[in-house]
Amino acid sequence: MIFLNDSYIKEFQAPIVAVEEEKIITADSCFYAQSGGQPGDKGVVEVNGQKVNVINTIKHEKGIAHVLESAIEGASGDIQGSIDWDHRFRLMRMHTTMHLLCAALPYYVTGGSIGWEKSRIDFDLGEESFEFETLNQIINEFIQQAHPISYQWITSEELDQQPELVRTLSVQPPRTNGQIRLVKIGTIDLQPCGGTHVANTHEIGEFKFIKYESKGKMNKRVQFTLD
Ligand SMILES: [Zn+2]
Repeated sequence: MIFLNDSYIKEFQAPIVAVEEEKIITADSCFYAQSGGQPGDKGVVEVNGQKVNVINTIKHEKGIAHVLESAIEGASGDIQGSIDWDHRFRLMRMHTTMHLLCAALPYYVTGGSIGWEKSRIDFDLGEESFEFETLNQIINEFIQQAHPISYQWITSEELDQQPELVRTLSVQPPRTNGQIRLVKIGTIDLQPCGGTHVANTHEIGEFKFIKYESKGKMNKRVQFTLD
């Protein structure tokens, strides 16, 4: 997928492979399909000379489904699309911050949700405790250290040999042709992930811890936002 290879690609053109009511499906897209707690992209597509807003993007058995504000009669041929970059870039910053929280808190992730206003991530601390108020300092230090984000692909077998890389039990890492993408943030975090990330932590801006809540034995929830 385009967004897996380069999360900074904002426009694409591709042949339509299926149309289902207000959904236009292409085999590949730069629009991120909702998954792993990250919302799908919004934007605009142009089909048969007609421009229509994309209100969400989801996975489809034939590829990626762009969910339109209203159906286009007789959609055929190619579509051209451009993503709402303000929306996507903020979600990329939020998503990359989730990895920094994983680096700060060495526990299993039991849930998470990325939002425009704020995001949350749940950890299973077991019997441990953590001074959550220190996150502002820890995460902002990670951001300022300007760690580059890079990718590498491994096989399922290679991942099975390194089970410690998997930080979340609730989301299976996506597989592309039997390969899994590892996301590496400098020297501080390495884990399989199919989401979109910034190229360097300094692009995140300022991290702001909102609150910590206990949502049961296995769910200690951290809420945060970005400036
Ligand atoms: Zn990720």
